Amino acid sequence: MTAASQVKIVILFGAPGAGKGTIAQHLLDNYSVVHFSTGNLLRNEVKNSTPIGKEVEAILSSGKLVGDDVVNRVVESNLLSALAGDSVVLLDGYPRTVEQAKFLDSIESGRLQSIIRVLELDVDHDVVVARIAGRVVCSKCGATFSGAQLAAENGGVDVKTCPRCGAELIKRADDSEDVVRRRLQEYVSMTLPVSRYYADRLAKVSGEGTPEDVARNVDDVFRDFGIEKRR
Ligand code: AMP
Repeated sequence: MTAASQVKIVILFGAPGAGKGTIAQHLLDNYSVVHFSTGNLLRNEVKNSTPIGKEVEAILSSGKLVGDDVVNRVVESNLLSALAGDSVVLLDGYPRTVEQAKFLDSIESGRLQSIIRVLELDVDHDVVVARIAGRVVCSKCGATFSGAQLAAENGGVDVKTCPRCGAELIKRADDSEDVVRRRLQEYVSMTLPVSRYYADRLAKVSGEGTPEDVARNVDDVFRDFGIEKRR
C-alpha cells in the first residue's frame, strides 16, 4: 500500500458519556468516515442471539468489559472490511485496554498498515453521570440523545421516537447510575492507561462545551490530523 492511499484510523477515546456518540455523528455528517463501534457490534451480536451474543449479554448489561479475546476476535473479523478503500475509520469504544491496543498494533503493522491517531474527549466524571442518567438511544439506528434536550426542543413533551429515523427511543440496559459508576471505575483502571500508550499520537479536546463548541474543536484536531471535511 502506498503512502498516498494509506488508510487512517482515528480512535475516539473518552469515558462513557463523554460525548463520543454525538461527535461520531458530527464526523459522519461532515467527513468521509466509516464508523466502527465495538459497543454496536456487540449489541448486534446480542440482538441476533449469536454464540458471541449469548456469551456477552450479561457482561454488557452489567457495565463490565467484555474479555479482550472476544472483543479482539470481533474486531479482527470486521475491521479489515471496514478498512477497504481509501477511508478514514473511526474506532469508537476500542481499544479499551492496553492488551487491545497491542493487538490492534499487531494486526495493524501486519496487515492494515494504516496511520493511527487518537482523539480524546475529556469530561469531568460527575458531568458524565448526570448526562448518562438522562440519555436515550434509538432502538434502530443507535443514535443517542439527551432526553432533557429533546423535551426542551419539543415544548417540554417527552419524545418517544427517534428524530432521525422515527424508531422507538429506549434507555440502554447499562445506563443506570450504579452501572455508570462501575463503568467509570473500570474506565479509570483499565482504559485510561490506553491514552498513555498512545501519548505520542493523541490530541485532547474538552467535551464539556456546547455540542457546537466541541465539534469546532474536533474539526481543528481533524485538520491537524490531515483529514479534510467532505465537500
Ligand atoms: P459502548 O457502546 O462503547 O459503551 O460499549 C457498551 C459495552 O460493550 C461496554 O460497557 C462493554 O461491556 C462492551 N464493550 C464495547 N467495546 C468493548 C471493548 N473494546 N472491550 C471490552 N468491552 C467492550
